[in-house]
Amino acid sequence: MNKRDILHEVYNKKLTDQQARDLVEQAYEANHIGKLTISAREYASMSFDEFTALTFHNLSFTDIAKLRYENWPYKCVTCDRNIIFGPNGTGWWIYRSQLIRGKLIRNALVCLKCADVLAGIFMKKKAIAFKKLHKKRKNKRRFVSK
Ligand SMILES: [Zn+2]
Repeated sequence: MNKRDILHEVYNKKLTDQQARDLVEQAYEANHIGKLTISAREYASMSFDEFTALTFHNLSFTDIAKLRYENWPYKCVTCDRNIIFGPNGTGWWIYRSQLIRGKLIRNALVCLKCADVLAGIFMKKKAIAFKKLHKKRKNKRRFVSK
């Protein structure tokens, strides 16, 4: 298997998302059995950040190619601070779609501080919804018992 620039090929519509996925899976397999000496990431010519977006955040090749060639964000979409990219694709979080200040943003890259806040809001909303549900049930029970 010769190294290729998968995202470049996807961006230029020479590969579909599924074809790209199959190729990277084949590279994984080949690397696993020792037929390929480079990693699947190296085979695909993807950076650690791009590969993290693929394997950890489940973005499509098409979306990652778009990020690479059009607007890979270096600032957090929430707080506008520069994102400090860590080694091996760390230091940031990506939401495939996220409501930020009333606007639905696709592939929203955020800093870890904001990721914590967003996760906190999500958990808070869940807790409030749970409380409401619990209250309703209590009220219902009270109503039934009267
Ligand atoms: Zn932020």
